[in-house]
Amino acid sequence: MAITVWILGDQLLTNHPALVSAEELTGRDQIVILMIESEARAQRFAYQAKKLVLLFSAMRHFSSSLQSAGYQVDYRVASSTTKAILQHIEVHKPERLITMSASEYYGNQYQLDLEEKTGIPVDIVPNTQFLTGIYNPFPEPQPGKRYVQELFYRNMRKHFNLLIDAAGEPYGEKWNFDKENRKKLPQGIEPTPPASFAPDAITRSVMSEVEQKFRVVGEVWGFDLAVTHEDAQSAATDFFENRLAEFGAYEDAMSSEFQTINHSRLSPYLNIGLLEPLALAREAQARYENGKAPINSVEGFVRQIVGWREFMYWQYLRLMPEMEQSNYWEATRQIPGFFWNGKTGLNCLNHVIKRGLDSGYTHHIERLMVAANFCLLAGIDPQEVNNWFLSVFIDAYEWVMLPNVFGMGLYADGGKISTKPYIASANYIHKMSDYCVNCAYKRNMRIGEKACPFNFLYWNFILENEEKLRSNPRMGTSLLGLRHLDPAERHQIRQQAREYLNQQI
Ligand code: FAD
Ligand code: SF4
Repeated sequence: MAITVWILGDQLLTNHPALVSAEELTGRDQIVILMIESEARAQRFAYQAKKLVLLFSAMRHFSSSLQSAGYQVDYRVASSTTKAILQHIEVHKPERLITMSASEYYGNQYQLDLEEKTGIPVDIVPNTQFLTGIYNPFPEPQPGKRYVQELFYRNMRKHFNLLIDAAGEPYGEKWNFDKENRKKLPQGIEPTPPASFAPDAITRSVMSEVEQKFRVVGEVWGFDLAVTHEDAQSAATDFFENRLAEFGAYEDAMSSEFQTINHSRLSPYLNIGLLEPLALAREAQARYENGKAPINSVEGFVRQIVGWREFMYWQYLRLMPEMEQSNYWEATRQIPGFFWNGKTGLNCLNHVIKRGLDSGYTHHIERLMVAANFCLLAGIDPQEVNNWFLSVFIDAYEWVMLPNVFGMGLYADGGKISTKPYIASANYIHKMSDYCVNCAYKRNMRIGEKACPFNFLYWNFILENEEKLRSNPRMGTSLLGLRHLDPAERHQIRQQAREYLNQQI
């Protein structure tokens, strides 16, 4: 039987389940693998130039490795996905098409209609890029119920036997070492930057195509990511050897000098299947067992991978499509123009935006506590914020962006994902970074010409949303601060925030 296996660009898995499934039904010579670079898809947004390079170059390398392994690959660069599929069917005349369920909601809806579009039987096999495809801690979630990440994470650890001793207890006698992972980066410590990879001929040719064909954010030049499974594995080994041990301690720290600090920068590879989550979590565990990394670092990393990443995907599947319409704070402002060029006097935002635009990467706390925090305090429309993140970041895909922006970053879903809104004034940014030292604004002023905008926007947000915030028991400490604001100060804060927002936005 002639079978087509359609492999999506972000599903470059070594043991691709659609291919495994096809080989159970027919001989290798009867299988044609279809891969599509869709120009319509790449033009939907102005995406980060380096993201398009990564995606297309990794796809082309994957295609050539499949061909070296003896598979026939029909690799199409097409104006649209549907056109490419129909042309492929006309040429190869498959009797059946097998594909793996797309990670993204709308991609999956498209696959569900494929049988009708193509007129041939279509099998959609479960997505194995996520561990929840193997084990789902809450297989039948209640629609209105809130699911807490910590419980989800513990269930995943137990099921996959990660950092659990023979008695079934967590390593280090605690499930979560978060409290130990909040140190500022001390002077004199120089974290090792992530491994970089010189572009080969395939990548160089993709770079010039992307530059000529697409409307993009940032530049193709300076692209230094891995584009094969082997190189992505080297990037992971580099992280385990050079940064994992101190990952935990400085997980929340921000620095004007060191962009990655001890983070892994592995999300671009994980999100397209060049690396797999369970293998990374097991490798981290082995480093602890061999005495190479302390428990706070290893647990912190495992929590990001099998806790947060999986939880976000699980919530995305559960809450779409309503999630992308949510707007709990009724925020309506446009994103300020400086988000597109990084030209702002706010030193922290200046660094974070420029890093995003230049490299497509900033670490988690910079995304959450600087960029998203500012947007939340400034009342930016969640759709605008989502589109900015989706355009700028190299690891941005809807399944991860939507729950992080609408849920964790903005609390626009009213608390379905996070238990509290992540809001902070300059106090927090100063505690965790060196940004405030060289800033034109004064981190300890609430009002006045030099007052840090994070301060008056923070208090303005609390004053504006006091009722909603009071309904959240975890916001008690922030609200206590209101007692220190007399009516005159409240009035000044509201006025300064209004003037600043009208000027900037
Ligand atoms: P590390 O700190 O080394 O963590 C290891 C891995 O854990 C990451 O590679 C990632 O796969 C996973 N991880 C950690 N936190 C999360 C999380 N909250 N959600 C999902 N995975 C997580 N992540 C993306 O992959 N793509 C995005 O487009 C994206 N957008 C974000 C937008 C906002 C507003 C926020 C708050 C977070 C976003 N994240 C996104 C999550 C997180 O910031 C990135 O995964 C992380 O910064 C990637 O860098 P790293 O590989 O060095 O991570
Ligand atoms: Fe950012 Fe305010 Fe600190 Fe400046 S003073 S770096 S704007 S938090």
